[in-house]
Amino acid sequence: MCDGVIMTDASGALEWWNGSAEHLLGFRRSTDQGQYIYNLIRTPAFKSYFDAKNYREPLELHSPAKPHIHLQVQISLFGEDDRLIVAKDISRLHQLEQMRRDFVSNVSHEMRTPLTVISGYLETLVDNADDLPPKWRRAINTMATQSFRMETLITDLILLSRIETGEQAISDAPTDVNSLVRQVCQDAQALSGKNQHDITFEASSHQRLNGDENQLRSAFSNLIFNAVKYTPAQGKILVCWFTNSDGGHLSVKDTGAGIDQVHIPRLTERFYRADPSRHKDTGGTGLGLAIVKHVLINHDGNLEIRSQLGEGSEFICHFPAERLVTELAE
Ligand code: ADP
Repeated sequence: MCDGVIMTDASGALEWWNGSAEHLLGFRRSTDQGQYIYNLIRTPAFKSYFDAKNYREPLELHSPAKPHIHLQVQISLFGEDDRLIVAKDISRLHQLEQMRRDFVSNVSHEMRTPLTVISGYLETLVDNADDLPPKWRRAINTMATQSFRMETLITDLILLSRIETGEQAISDAPTDVNSLVRQVCQDAQALSGKNQHDITFEASSHQRLNGDENQLRSAFSNLIFNAVKYTPAQGKILVCWFTNSDGGHLSVKDTGAGIDQVHIPRLTERFYRADPSRHKDTGGTGLGLAIVKHVLINHDGNLEIRSQLGEGSEFICHFPAERLVTELAE
């Protein structure tokens, strides 16, 4: 069997393992019998996963013995809280995933320079449109609009690959969510312009959130700008920041067209659109919710989407309680 299989008792003491577990995890029959598994796999994430007993999703980690091996670990409970642990070598899959990310990141960076040159010249031509023969004016204007669209797309692709690959170290500083969201709501009001959406922000908590302010700004603005884009003129958008024992939550609720249930599980995939005909005039890149999802992964959070066709939508970012900063009493 090529997967590593390990059995421990309820306390995590090793009882039995197969030859593949020796190869993949470096366990030694002579010395490791009866040792606690979390002393041999010393990643804190493994210890919390082992203790939490919530094994619906597998855990990915590097092999403690051979760091180039990427493992997917799945635990099952049996008997009296004994554990059966299966470790799969997913290095090849991981490597392909990395190649895909690098490819997208390289292509986006390579395309940026030529596109900047084209856009620059087009902008000059548009500024001097009066000197152009009339038959060229429309073509030049359309080319300028499309090159602007491509620039936005490349900017979002680069942002997404930075967030996803961890190319840029994320800072972990207490972020004032209230002032951040207030700024984003002001920008959203400007984006709404003559559509005069009624954008309200309710801050029911003053607790700050440990995280990367730039990434959080990208996530919150994508959600709030989407609410503006997909809600008809004069619609209502309610943004709330609240905290409770589960953690911190940012909710963005709109009275827009809503989304059919069938699309909801796929919305955060890159370029997935619930209604391709609707997005044409919004100028979106199709990457906004993918960016939100990855920002939340980086902050140990998750995105909840509640929506019904014709009844508006609510997007909620959930952050764990450990990320909330408790203010010391003065
Ligand atoms: P886009 O650039 O197309 O807006 P996103 O990733 O931000 O890409 O969103 C993906 C799709 O989810 C959108 O194309 C749209 O169909 C749907 N969507 C996102 N936000 C909303 C919303 N507030 N109301 C209705 N549909 C939405």
